[in-house]
Amino acid sequence: MANVLFLVLQLSGYSQSVSISASEKEGILLMREEEKLAHDVYTLLYDKWQLQPFSNISGSESRHFDAMGYLLETFELNDPAFPEAGRFKNRELAVLYDSLVSRGSESLLAALEVGAYIEEVDILDLKELIETSSNDAIAAVYSNLLRGSENHIRAFTRQLSWRDLEYVPTVLDAEIYSAIVGTSIQCGNRGNCINATPHSNNCKQQGGKQFRNRGKQNGCWNN
Ligand code: MN
Ligand code: MN
Repeated sequence: MANVLFLVLQLSGYSQSVSISASEKEGILLMREEEKLAHDVYTLLYDKWQLQPFSNISGSESRHFDAMGYLLETFELNDPAFPEAGRFKNRELAVLYDSLVSRGSESLLAALEVGAYIEEVDILDLKELIETSSNDAIAAVYSNLLRGSENHIRAFTRQLSWRDLEYVPTVLDAEIYSAIVGTSIQCGNRGNCINATPHSNNCKQQGGKQFRNRGKQNGCWNN
């Protein structure tokens, strides 16, 4: 991941002499800890529920965390992240962590909803940061993270769908959410799953099988 990011920064003609705005700096610090929050919550929820996606996705969050670390180094910013799991400098994230862990420990369904919620927040923040950053290199890193988050919310909501629970977004605009999750249901040319109800057995089976295959072949969860 670091090599890819280095290449991105090189290609964009970036050098350390480029200064970034206060809001860009704040954004990097926020996302560094937000990726840590996702990693720490998923690691804990995997320990609790032993459901593989939590393990796969926490690995992905670790790579996102490293990507943000690379930006910290590049822009010579102090790392806000504590080494301990569940500890945060950002007070809002500290409070959020506690509430998500508490909720996700109640049941597997609640844990999956917690996962989808974390990804909603990530997607919202990343979209805003991409729009407000004038630095192409930062935006390129965020775009990579955003693609990962979109895959993650697809994975979590699909897990919920398999358990007959339709996830309702709480912070993302409903249309944006539907567009992300709708494109995820890769039923190929045979089905029209995008228009199917979330509880369609046909859709679940086709989508689920193909997603698992895609996950292995293309490393969906590794983004
Ligand atoms: Mn992430
Ligand atoms: Mn994620």
